[in-house]
This record gives sequence, C-alpha cells and structure tokens, in this order.
Amino acid sequence: MMTIYCEYGLIGRSLAFEENVYISFSSSGFIKRVSHIPPRRVDEEYASCLVMPGLINAHTHIGDSFFKEVGFNFTVEELVAPPYGLKHRLLDAASEKDIKDGIRWAAMEMLYSGTTTFADFREGGVWGALIMRRALEDIPIKYLILGRDHTNTADLLRVCDGVGLPSTTIYSDEELRRMREECKMMDAMIAVHASETKDERERSIREHGVSDVVRALSVLDADLLVHLTHASDEELALVSGRGVACCPRANAYLGVGIPPVEKMVEVGVKVCLGTDNVMINSPDLFREMDFLGKAVRARSGVGALDAKSILKMVTVNPAEALNLNSGWIERGRSADLVIIDFEAPNVKPVHHPYQVLVHRVKSENVTCVYVNGVKAYEK
Ligand SMILES: [Zn+2]
Repeated sequence: MMTIYCEYGLIGRSLAFEENVYISFSSSGFIKRVSHIPPRRVDEEYASCLVMPGLINAHTHIGDSFFKEVGFNFTVEELVAPPYGLKHRLLDAASEKDIKDGIRWAAMEMLYSGTTTFADFREGGVWGALIMRRALEDIPIKYLILGRDHTNTADLLRVCDGVGLPSTTIYSDEELRRMREECKMMDAMIAVHASETKDERERSIREHGVSDVVRALSVLDADLLVHLTHASDEELALVSGRGVACCPRANAYLGVGIPPVEKMVEVGVKVCLGTDNVMINSPDLFREMDFLGKAVRARSGVGALDAKSILKMVTVNPAEALNLNSGWIERGRSADLVIIDFEAPNVKPVHHPYQVLVHRVKSENVTCVYVNGVKAYEK
C-alpha cells in the first residue's frame, strides 16, 4: 500500500475541489482510500500541488506522428482521404522504424502532459495493431486500439479493443451490420468518424439517403462517434447519452469548423475531447481544453460552457464512454493520477481552480504521473 498527500485535489465523480487530500492505493493499482485524515505513513508529499485524475484522450491517430506539420496547407480530403491522400502516400513509403518512433514520441508527449489513457484509431489491420503494441512495450501509458479491417473483423478483434472506422459512407449497410454483429458478439467497442465536414455529410445523404450520423446510429449502432462538427440539432438529440469525441483544435486547423460542444452538453451527450491526428495537432489535452473554452466563448458568449464541464470531457466522460475504470478519484478505481504544480508562476494565485486548470495550466506544470499506482513520469 502506498499513500500520497496533496495540498489540493479534484475528488470523486463530481471533481469536487478539496484541500489536504490523502490517497492510498494498493500494489495492484487500485485506490483503497481517499481521506482528509493523515494515515500513519505517507510515502510522498506534494505540498502546493493538486492531484487530479489522469487525463483520457478519446481520439488519436498516433501512427501518423512521424510527419508532424507536413501538408499544413492541405484540405482534409487531400490530407487523409484513402487511398491517395498525403498521409497514405507517406505511410506507404515509411519504414516500420519511422512509424514506431513516431508512436513512441506521441505516447511520451501524452504521458508528460498528464494523459494516462488514449483511444487510437489504428490502420493496417492486425499488423498495424501489433506494431503499436511493440512500440509501446516499455512506455507505461494505457491505450485502446480501435483497428480497421472490414474484411476480417474477427481476426482484428483478437489484437484490438474494437473497430475505428474512417466513415460509414464507404461501407454498405450490409458491411456495417456485419461489423456491428461481430463487435457486439465479442463485446468490442465500435467507433466511427461522422460529419467532420459538410462534404462528407452530403455525400452520405446523396449515396445512402440519410446522413452519416444517422447511419452510424441506426445501422452501425456505434458506441463512440468522432467529430460531429456539422451534426444537426435533431441528430444531437439522438446522440444524447452516447459518447462523442470532439476534436476542436484539429477541426480548426483543417478549416472545417468548431464542433457544437455547448449544444451537445445541453442535450446530454457525453462529450469527450480528442486531439486527433498527430500529423496536424499536438496530443496535449491542456492545450485542447484551453482552445475549446475560448472558441466556445467566442461563438456563444462567456457563460456558454463552464470550465468544470470541460475538465469532465478529459476525465469522467471518456471513462464512461470508453468503459474504463479510471477518470475520477474514488475508492475502487484505478490509481491513474496527475500531480500539478500550483506554485508555478503561470498558475498562481489560484482564485478559480477549474478556470486555472483549463486556461492557465500547461503540460510543463505536470510534476508527476501515476498509472495503475506506479510512478510513470516525474519531472
Ligand atoms: Zn480521426
């Protein structure tokens, strides 16, 4: 059993801001006790620091990390559309070492900026999933692999946690139904990009009679929808209660808009944040939260989305949407913890902790990260 002390903490599913927190966890990596009363032994003391749940990045493509900022003036089509988009040409020409190095760098950047779990859309079928597992063998970060190979879903699910489809539009109803059945049978997650661009949405309506969001729900029955940058109000109501991974910085970078996050929160969508493709965006969730908060204020005014709701998008909401036993600090949950320096010049004085975490804290303020109760990073 190990116990840490922090002067401040975000505790429980409500992320309540509390002072003088002692957290004990077992050698198997689960939180055993959360208290304000000091136990007999304290192993680590973090004065002037805040402990919060490890961040969860709900949507990445870290296989593309080795070509950061290449193609920065390309449209989303030119960049990622299979089979001749820039990323596919670069991946075809890349060595296994290039891809693995990129995966490792992105995972390290995530860990050092407080992310303890990420959900990755991985291409290359079984081979692609195995490359990722090998690349991350000695990096203590947790991840879900959402793989892609519609011809052999059963084989894919032996090495992946679910499927991550580029779109519904490229598949027939029959193909989507077959993937759905195979995933449900194996209790595997189904995730899919939907309505990232107006064009993608219109193509679905043209070719299938309904939008890609509607097909993702009614034909595929996806657990996690990614983007919904251009979903209608009626569709957002249909998604209520489900997980949606929004990627505001990636959408902005590609010039396709900003997702209607404040409307999603209003209708009860479990909004999660993802940093999307490392080729176009850094996998740093502190930057993502800051950008989202400001973009929403610019669009809808200062009271449209509160900072605590944004913090939930990288903790509680993705834990529930991805079915993870982390995301908040409570007895029985995984001891995935991030310690933030609240004495740093860019942070203090802390008048409004939620605001400060969303808009002032940077990855450099992460002083220590625990994954399953083991110190995975220390500054
Ligand atoms: Zn994506």
